[in-house]
Amino acid sequence: MVDLKGQYLKIKPEIDAAIAAVIEEAMFIAGPQVKDFATDLARYLQVNHVIPCGNGTDALQIALMALDLQAGDEIILPSFTYVATAEAAALLGLTPVFAEVNPHTFTLDPESVRQAISPRTRALIPVHLYGQTAEMEALLNIAREHDLYLIEDNAQAIGGRYLFSDGSSKANGTMGHIGTTSFFPSKNLGCFGDGGALFTDDPQLAQRIRMIANHGQQQKYRHEIIGCNSRLDTLQAAVLQVKLPYLDAYCNARRAVADFYDRAFAGHPLLKTPLRASYSHHVFHQYTIQVQEVNRDEVKQRLAEKGIPTMIYYPTPCHRQPKFAASSPQLPITDQLNACILSLPIHTEMDNQTLAYISQSVLEVVAACQP
Ligand SMILES: *Cc1c(COP(=O)(O)O)cnc(C)c1O
Repeated sequence: MVDLKGQYLKIKPEIDAAIAAVIEEAMFIAGPQVKDFATDLARYLQVNHVIPCGNGTDALQIALMALDLQAGDEIILPSFTYVATAEAAALLGLTPVFAEVNPHTFTLDPESVRQAISPRTRALIPVHLYGQTAEMEALLNIAREHDLYLIEDNAQAIGGRYLFSDGSSKANGTMGHIGTTSFFPSKNLGCFGDGGALFTDDPQLAQRIRMIANHGQQQKYRHEIIGCNSRLDTLQAAVLQVKLPYLDAYCNARRAVADFYDRAFAGHPLLKTPLRASYSHHVFHQYTIQVQEVNRDEVKQRLAEKGIPTMIYYPTPCHRQPKFAASSPQLPITDQLNACILSLPIHTEMDNQTLAYISQSVLEVVAACQP
């Protein structure tokens, strides 16, 4: 599904030099590259504060720890996401409340959020899934009306932007109170191991986040609040510093792959291609089609027989997970999407020959599966 080696080889001299410099300096934790990368990323995103941390799951947990929340407070989030989003809330004794997604964009549906609001609701966590920004303007309005915190889970959409109706635009992850991301190797901006970060414009939140990620201390060995140990190590920061200037090119390469698939499947009666909402700049972390009327699992199986890997992100939605099922609402749109989604290979190093083979195979397989 990804070609991390191919991506590395194109920038090998730069990466190798950056890694060698870290080893030479031997400041493996909190080396200067960590702060420098945070500064570079803040400039790229045009946000006041970037706080690096250990991974994208930690980023979500730290974001929730930094807000003024009590056990039992309700956090509204989509069921149609990776479990990390719900897990972070549950781990802190908060109650994840699952809402529907818009079936065209796969992102949190503002109407469903309105219906899920209760007197205990304190925060919303939209997820910019597959690289598509959620409907931020509507969600920010809901958050304002009901005095809720808004955390953007931007693990899959760094490099994307949202266009507001007044013509202004903002980078994904910088619109809510806090944005989080992951630098897991296969993400749009990936390091060579685990990594993550939080973004905020609020200086007080930034300070709290920094403390929490560092054992609740501001001053060494003085622990004012309960925190955790979550840091981006220097080697990862050095890799990310080299890769950040390529992020826009990586997003464009993904978009070119999506263009190819879009053309190949245009107008097909059984294949629904992913919508690119006009309010945003899709960065295609995944290219996820909806296979209609024919059996998705059979399509997947037959593609595998032709040597084409496909994935289902994610096989079981959060509200159907054993841990959450008993207390979750009915979410028919999420269930229905889950039965027909199929993510095709997409990454920065794909050539037209491979793309032609994959799209031709998808068309053949779908035709062969017809009832
Ligand atoms: C990858 C991902 C995470 C978790 O990131 P890790 O770095 O793997 O902990 C959280 N949310 C979403 C939507 C993700 O895709």
